[in-house]
Amino acid sequence: MTKSNIPLGKLFGIQIGLDYSWFVIFALLTWMLADSYYPDEFKNWSPLLYWLTGAVTAILLFVSVLLHELGHSVIALWYKIPVRSITLFLFGGIAQIEGEPPSAVAELLIAIAGPLVNLVLAVSFYTVQAAVSGLEPLLGLTKYLAYINLALVLFNLIPGYPLDGGRVLRAIVWAATGNMNRSTVVAASVGRFFAFLLIFAGTLQMFSGNLGGGLWIALIGWFLDNAASVQIQQVTLRGLLIGHRVKQAMSTRYAIVPDDLTLQQLVDEQILGCGQRSFLVNRGDRTVGLITLHRVKEVPRQEWATTRAGEVMLPYQQLKCIDQDAELWSALQNMDRNGVNQMPVVQAQHVVGMLSREDVITFLATLQEFGIQPSTQKT
Ligand SMILES: [Zn+2]
Repeated sequence: MTKSNIPLGKLFGIQIGLDYSWFVIFALLTWMLADSYYPDEFKNWSPLLYWLTGAVTAILLFVSVLLHELGHSVIALWYKIPVRSITLFLFGGIAQIEGEPPSAVAELLIAIAGPLVNLVLAVSFYTVQAAVSGLEPLLGLTKYLAYINLALVLFNLIPGYPLDGGRVLRAIVWAATGNMNRSTVVAASVGRFFAFLLIFAGTLQMFSGNLGGGLWIALIGWFLDNAASVQIQQVTLRGLLIGHRVKQAMSTRYAIVPDDLTLQQLVDEQILGCGQRSFLVNRGDRTVGLITLHRVKEVPRQEWATTRAGEVMLPYQQLKCIDQDAELWSALQNMDRNGVNQMPVVQAQHVVGMLSREDVITFLATLQEFGIQPSTQKT
């Protein structure tokens, strides 16, 4: 997914990865278990045993989180929805499930599969306790994992999107109204409500002396609020943009420079003079590439006078172009997927304009000025 991801291998064709932020929570959790939880529960262990049991417990907790995400993923795959990757990070795990579930029932089953895995794990760890009661480290470990898996079930079932409980709520509203967009907004709004509750509860805890625990709860609330807000924005944006084409928002006043122009000339005459940040590069009257401020900056300054635009441009073959009749919404998703801020717009292989994120924002502002409301009717 990103550079901050350590690949662990593949399961069911899904790439499993560790985000660097995972090490922070792994270290914190191991320390909490080895330094306070296990010493409080069991008195006479050696320091090494406390730390070893702490680390093994932390790893098994993340195996539980991984199995939770695999639970979602396996059901999604069963519905033929591609799952690209599962990443473990600071706040748990994320499965990159691509595309929306085909029906409310599919949404419900995919959502419930994760917590169900934790419920099975909680019952299993609880049952195993009796068999390992003679071995204190194993007893402590199974007891903690039974408890934490049950906590994972309860936390994930909070009915606020994008938590699993929120997905269940979304599935129910979706089934009742037949409108997926509206169900997302309802479930995400409930998600924001619970996020504020968590932030509030966390802040109270912090002021009543539990600084670490309170901060953690507040941070989870903050993370949840962000995730829920993004969902609401996405739906609103899609509602606004749906039915509109790239050619309506693209800018036709894009700058063209010849491929033999030096970078020095480009900077002096075009970038400083007109404030443009990206240029189509032409050889004759044919577009051969795109040059951006970013690419210019990668060339050392003393080489600007001798380097030509054609040498540093992104060649046309590598450009992500978009057809002028494509949906504006899908163009925006395209930019997100490819990590670019602008795309040349083409019609029958000819560049007819440029579409940047700013163009989309300007277009949205114009729509709003004319009082055009988001169309939440469409699913
Ligand atoms: Zn889940």
